[in-house]
Amino acid sequence: MTDTTTVSLGLPPMPRTRASRAEIDAARTNAGPQRVLLAAPRGYCAGVDRAVIAVEKALEHYGPPVYVRKQIVHNKHVVETLEAKGAVFVEETDEVPEGAMLVFSAHGVSPAVVNAAEERGLQTIDATCPLVTKVHREAVRFAKNDYEILLIGHEGHEEVEGTYGEAPEATQIVNSPEEAETIQVKNPDRLIWLSQTTLSVDETMETVRRLRKRFPNLQDPPSDDICYATSNRQAAIKKIAPQADLVIVVGSANSSNSVRLVEVALEYGAKAAYRVDFAHQVDESWFVDAQTVGVTSGASVPEVLVRDVLSLLSEYGYTDVEEVVEAEEDILFSLPKELRATLKAHGDESRGLGGRGVRPRA
Ligand code: SF4
Repeated sequence: MTDTTTVSLGLPPMPRTRASRAEIDAARTNAGPQRVLLAAPRGYCAGVDRAVIAVEKALEHYGPPVYVRKQIVHNKHVVETLEAKGAVFVEETDEVPEGAMLVFSAHGVSPAVVNAAEERGLQTIDATCPLVTKVHREAVRFAKNDYEILLIGHEGHEEVEGTYGEAPEATQIVNSPEEAETIQVKNPDRLIWLSQTTLSVDETMETVRRLRKRFPNLQDPPSDDICYATSNRQAAIKKIAPQADLVIVVGSANSSNSVRLVEVALEYGAKAAYRVDFAHQVDESWFVDAQTVGVTSGASVPEVLVRDVLSLLSEYGYTDVEEVVEAEEDILFSLPKELRATLKAHGDESRGLGGRGVRPRA
């Protein structure tokens, strides 16, 4: 027997047919207390928040349409919400009418993209996360000093394309620990590794270990390239995973850090782990074997989507929610410089703020 449940998604409610709580309870493989371990930190990082605010502010002050190259951040809900306000997402600069306003996404762009936008006479706002810009600068600096760069990251990911594009002649991409075993370099004594900001910390260290075994003089980056938000979210789920029968990660399929959270959860002992964009994608049959459910979300996920998952869980008896806090985050980034002057001229007090950590959570 089934009943019809309405699940709020932070979007218009979507009716769906689910097995009832009574059916799931009858099928449960254990009768112990049900609980949720909610990871903290989770969700929006300062770089994502800054990028989303940049598009919102551009829409508010310049009016729609505001064009955005690629998804501003890798989250369906965020992209759809901004589209509804007048943002137009494009793949490349040549899709943008000459002279229009274009925002570069949080993942960063290569100099070739900046040049293409200039040639088209576009007004641009660069919403690249400052922590991605830091890796770009490292690539430029080390290439200038005749280093060969081994960029650990996923080929085809926008961030990797952008960083690679800073010094293509000096850079090779290393996709995995396995590739570290076979990659060939020109001069093993002038070699540095850099990385994508959203990788698995453990897997990256394994890749570096294998590289260093082959190239003992491999240099480390001046500071960690995997960002604080990625590291903290992975550390929090590592704490929860050994106790969890099920982990639900809220995040989109193209969100590198969300996908990594599923992998890390499984690696650290979660019996099952799934990624969902929205609460309606949660399959209630997952609850049959689950007494303890871990919940987290990727760095591009608004909290409202996590709240929807928690509401669904509570409908199935998971009302005991304990937050497992790994770290407190209070990082804020200034908004892109191209916007700051406009906001100042309009007396917009949000200038200089890039994070919503200063506001109460919804
Ligand atoms: S995940 Fe890290 S690098 Fe990416 S936008 Fe957030 S803070 Fe910046």
